[in-house]
Amino acid sequence: MAETEKAALRREMVDICRRMNASGINQGTSGNLSARTTDGFLITPSSMPYETMTPDDIVEMGFDGTYVGHRPSSEWRFHRDILRARTDINAVLHCHSIYATTLACHHRTIPSFHYMTGVAGGTTIRCAEYATFGTQALSDNALAALEGRLACLLGQHGQISLGKTLDTALWLAIEVETLSRVYVQALTLGEPPILPDDEMERVLEQMRRMSYGQAPDAEGINDIARPREAVKGG
Ligand code: 13P
Ligand code: ZN
Repeated sequence: MAETEKAALRREMVDICRRMNASGINQGTSGNLSARTTDGFLITPSSMPYETMTPDDIVEMGFDGTYVGHRPSSEWRFHRDILRARTDINAVLHCHSIYATTLACHHRTIPSFHYMTGVAGGTTIRCAEYATFGTQALSDNALAALEGRLACLLGQHGQISLGKTLDTALWLAIEVETLSRVYVQALTLGEPPILPDDEMERVLEQMRRMSYGQAPDAEGINDIARPREAVKGG
């Protein structure tokens, strides 16, 4: 990856970090973000407030754990391991958003109580077993919970969301937080009913077909709707 492309990625990471804070899913110095490069990845520095962070503060790391610049996020192991294992994604976002963390404190898996559970790629959003922050054990638990998924909760800690791009990772983290909030709210009236697996299969198929929530201009969004210009142009 050319240095100019890496510089652009650093700027984009700072922008996403600021948007994490503005969206309310992150506060203080909790949370971290990484993005794949051709020879490793870029990651946020440890314990640095996003308001004052600049593109030059972003740390460059190799998959061997060597780095250039500031001390990398204490969670560099799970960023490294996820980026290495999951070649389907290029960005990893971690935060302690309030409602996702509320469920994680109770080690709750989010079931298919609402069709949007499917945005993480399956019928549930699992909660990884607890392990101390910054450890290899936490990374191993997170990878297991992310099997076949784009998001998971971290027991008594927070959430992780993945994306092909930084933008989609942020979008998914906000969706997971919203869904968690609705689940916590729904639980106040008792355990809500769960959509059956065959319905969730239809939901997942529909989401795949539509690139649901991620590609506003994608073809095939609707069986019959077409952009007006395309109709005019014959
Ligand atoms: P860092 O500031 O080291 O990224 O730590 C924040 C965090 O959320 C640890 O899990
Ligand atoms: Zn954390």
